[in-house]
Amino acid sequence: MRQSQLFSKTRKDVSAEEQANNARLLLRAGFVDRTMAGVYTILPLGLRVRNKLEAVIREEMASIEAEELEMPALTPKHVWETTGRWEEMDDLYRFTSFYTQMELALGPTHEEIITPLAKQYITSYRDLPRYVYQIQDKYRDEKRAKSGLLRGREFSMKDLYSFHTSEEDLDRYYERVKEAYYRVYKRLNLESVTYLTYAPGGTFSKFSHEFQIINEVGEDTIYTCPHHQVAINAEIIDIQPSCPQCGETNLTEQNAIEVGNIFKLKTKFSKDFNLTFTDENGNTNPVMMGCFGIGVTRLLAAIVETFSDGEDSMYWPQEIAPFHVHLLHLSNDESSQEQAESVYSQLQNHGIEILFDNRKESPGKKFTDADLLGIPNRLIISPKSLENGGFELNGEIHTDINEIVTTLTKPVVSSSF
Ligand code: ATP
Ligand code: MG
Repeated sequence: MRQSQLFSKTRKDVSAEEQANNARLLLRAGFVDRTMAGVYTILPLGLRVRNKLEAVIREEMASIEAEELEMPALTPKHVWETTGRWEEMDDLYRFTSFYTQMELALGPTHEEIITPLAKQYITSYRDLPRYVYQIQDKYRDEKRAKSGLLRGREFSMKDLYSFHTSEEDLDRYYERVKEAYYRVYKRLNLESVTYLTYAPGGTFSKFSHEFQIINEVGEDTIYTCPHHQVAINAEIIDIQPSCPQCGETNLTEQNAIEVGNIFKLKTKFSKDFNLTFTDENGNTNPVMMGCFGIGVTRLLAAIVETFSDGEDSMYWPQEIAPFHVHLLHLSNDESSQEQAESVYSQLQNHGIEILFDNRKESPGKKFTDADLLGIPNRLIISPKSLENGGFELNGEIHTDINEIVTTLTKPVVSSSF
């Protein structure tokens, strides 16, 4: 992609209304635009990142045999009445159709859709277990939307629902999901800041587990154990004042961002919707359920908060960077222009995703923009690099373009962060 043809441009300033650093950086770099408070347009650069993030999640979902589907955002009132959440959920967007007077809600989560749907296919123990997920936009009437993309009123979530014959089977799958979640966060270079956090379990379980990323801008307060990457959410510290793994009571209070939540629903929703199965002895039982969320846009914003350097630069993990390499051509003379064009097409031929800054801008402007965009590899062609014999990749001169190809196509290594 030629930078001169990008739909978005970098911006120096964004509205003071936008306070969160994640949103300010993403806006300035042209990854998103703010449509209104809590609602963002994902611009082409931002969508490249989100698509890659989704690809990582889809791979890990496939590894635990989950099938993808997509449920609607528009949902009828009666399913929410069945579970009592039409009244109970403060952040449910409710409205009435002008033509039909039908009352509707915009889905903030999808237990009310998936459970009656599952009744069509699950009747016997032979139909279990089953695992389905979607990556879809959710709507929540959040009271405050001051954290940028960390808390949207419309945001993307991966939600997985599982169906089982027994609690033991649910427990086994729950552990597999946990491992898949660790793999997702590891691939995003978040391993060292991710804490498995004990959180309220709702009506039917003692705990749920959240995946929390330590960060001062996080809206959650958690208590971390000095010996394990385990924490306790402040909401339950009174009933669980010590590390559940080692009993340590000397815990550290920290702010964190909840990027995932796994939950044993057990029979809560299957009882509401009468989702049952016939077991081997011909008895009818309620289906055991689990639900497992990852906040996709929140995760994207959390990555910006984790890896940004002050207010002027981002740094994308390799797996989700919008491009593999940013090629900066820092001269206006024609011969180096030809060389830059040739490098651009050779790298593209090797399947390397490359953003080519071919704009007629000063080197200073190109560097400032490159810092803001945060593409993890930088390749420079300038009179100086050519004098030194070639092209400068991440600070090192290479004379041979094949060397550059080899370096860039090496398997992903963790970033220096
Ligand atoms: P919070 O406590 O932050 O409001 P939640 O516990 O209500 O979140 P869940 O219902 O557990 O959220 O949703 C699953 C995941 O979706 C969360 O772990 C989080 O990563 C993400 N998420 C929830 N609300 C939002 C939001 N308003 N904007 C962006 N992501 C969100
Ligand atoms: Mg949660």
